Amino acid sequence: MRRVVAAAARLLTDLAEAGAPLELEPRRLPVAGRRYVPRVGFDSVGLARRLRQLAIRAGARFLDQTAITALRRCPDGKFWAVGIRRQEGGLVAIRARTVVLAAGGCSWRGAHMGQHNVMGDACALALGAGADLAGMEFCSSYLATCTLFDTHGQCVLAALGGRLHNRLGEDILARHGFSQPAATHQVAVAMLAELTAGRGPITFDLRGISAEGRGDWSARFALVSRGLGRLGRDVFQDPVPWLPGFTGSVAGGGGVRILNLAGETVVPGLLVAGDAAVRLPVVGAGSGITFLNVAWALASGHWAGLAAGRRAGPGPLDAEREVLVQALQETLDPLAEEPAGDPAALLRALQHLVVDPELNFFRTAAGLALAEAKLRRLWQAIVAARTADWHGLVRLHELRSAALTALAGFQSARARRETRGWHRRRDYPDRDPGLDGVWSVARPADRVGHGPDFTVTFQRLTDPTVFCPWPPEEAA
Ligand SMILES: Cc1cc2nc3c(=O)[nH]c(=O)nc-3n(C[C@H](O)[C@H](O)[C@H](O)COP(=O)(O)OP(=O)(O)OC[C@H]3O[C@@H](n4cnc5c(N)ncnc54)[C@H](O)[C@@H]3O)c2cc1C
Repeated sequence: MRRVVAAAARLLTDLAEAGAPLELEPRRLPVAGRRYVPRVGFDSVGLARRLRQLAIRAGARFLDQTAITALRRCPDGKFWAVGIRRQEGGLVAIRARTVVLAAGGCSWRGAHMGQHNVMGDACALALGAGADLAGMEFCSSYLATCTLFDTHGQCVLAALGGRLHNRLGEDILARHGFSQPAATHQVAVAMLAELTAGRGPITFDLRGISAEGRGDWSARFALVSRGLGRLGRDVFQDPVPWLPGFTGSVAGGGGVRILNLAGETVVPGLLVAGDAAVRLPVVGAGSGITFLNVAWALASGHWAGLAAGRRAGPGPLDAEREVLVQALQETLDPLAEEPAGDPAALLRALQHLVVDPELNFFRTAAGLALAEAKLRRLWQAIVAARTADWHGLVRLHELRSAALTALAGFQSARARRETRGWHRRRDYPDRDPGLDGVWSVARPADRVGHGPDFTVTFQRLTDPTVFCPWPPEEAA
C-alpha cells in the first residue's frame, strides 16, 4: 500500500506540474473525531482530457468508441486484439508485442453512477489470452447512494458526522457493532441487513454536520451538490433515504491475477492495470474506493506501462493469420440475419442473480449452488443469442463477459468457506485465520471454449513465487 501511495503521489505531482487540473496544495477537510481527512480532489474529466493530450503529444493513437472483443496470444508470443468500431460499424485488428489491459472492472450494469461501461470485458479478454483470475469472491460490492439523486461520497459525509438510521430511528452501524466512520463493505452489510429484515427505509441524517463541514463538502463535491440543489431539497436539514447501489467489482478487489506490482500475468507480454487487475494485495478483502482505487489505477498503470515499454520496440510484426481469423470469427460469431434472444431480458436475468443480496451478498452453499445452476442455463442462452447489428454485437459480447465474470465469482465464493470483507458466508460466519493472506485463483477448466466451468485453487500471497510486492525494476 505504501508503494502504491508513494508512486501515485509522485505521479500526481508530476501531472500537476505538467498542467493537469490538480490541487497543488489541497485544502484539508476537518473531520469529527480526526483533525483532517487528507485527500486530493480533482476534476476527473479535466484530468482525463489532459492525460489524453499528453499521450497524443507523445505519439499515442486513440481508437475512440471501439470495444475490444477478442484478445489472442499467437505462437510467436505476439498478440492480436480485435474490436468493433461502434460508430463506423466496422472491425479493427491490432497487432502488438505487449498489451496493457485496463478495461476496468465489472458492474453488471448495477445501480450506481459512472460505471455502466464496465461489464467484465477485461476478465473475459484476459481469460481468452490464457490468463487467470484471482479473488473473484470479493466482486460483489455495494456503495451507499442517495435515492433522490444517484451519488457517492457517503463516507466523507459519515466522517463529518452523518448517521445512517433505520425506520426505528436506530443508528444502523452502531446496531451492527461497527465503529464510525465505517468501511464501505461494513456500511453495505448494515444497510442490506436492515433492508432485508424489513427495517427500511434507511435515512442519512446529516443534521450533525457543522456549517463549515457542509460548506467544504459542497465545494468539493460541486456537481453532486448542484444536482441536489436542483431538486429543491436541503438534504442537510431534511434526512432522505439512501440505498445500497450495486457496483460489482468496481469497489471490490477481484480481477485478473497479477504476479507483481507491474501487473504481469501468467501470459508473457500481457499486463493488467487498474480495476481490471486483482487489488487484494493493496486493499485486502475490503475496498479501496474513495481511498486507494484511483491511486492504484495511476500507480499500476505507470508500472505496467514501464514494463510493457521495455518489451516493445521496433522491428517487424509478422502477421499470424490463423490466430487473427479465430479472433475475427469469435467477434462475429453472434452476428446473424435473424436476431435471437432479447439482450435486455438476458441482462435483467443476470442482474437478478448477481445483484440479489440474498443470493450473492449474504451467501450460503445452497444459495450459491442455486444461483450457479441458473447462471449456467443463462450462459447457454447468452451464447445462443444472435443480433443483426453492430450495437447488438457489442451488447452480446458485454453480456458474455459479464456472465463469465459472474461464473468465476460464484465458483470462487463457493470455494472460500469463511466470511471476510466483501465475502460473507452465512454458513461460515467467522473469519478463518488459516486463510489470512490467501487468495483464490479461478482458471477455466476448458481453455479452448473458456466456458462456464472454473477450477478454483488457493495460493498464499506471501509466497514470493506467487506474488512479488514490487514492480520489477524496483525489485531488481
Ligand atoms: C461512483 C464512484 C465513485 C468513486 N469514487 C472514488 C474515489 O473517490 N476515490 C477512488 O480512489 N476511487 C473511486 N472510485 C473508483 C475509481 O473510479 C476506479 O477505481 C477507477 O476509475 C479505475 O480506473 P481504471 O482506469 O482501471 O478503470 P475505468 O475508469 O473503469 O476505465 C475502464 C475503461 O475501459 C473501457 N472499456 C471497458 N471495456 C472495454 C472494451 N472491451 N474495449 C475497450 N474499452 C473498454 C471503459 O469504457 C472505460 O473507459 C469510484 C467509482 C465510482 C463508480
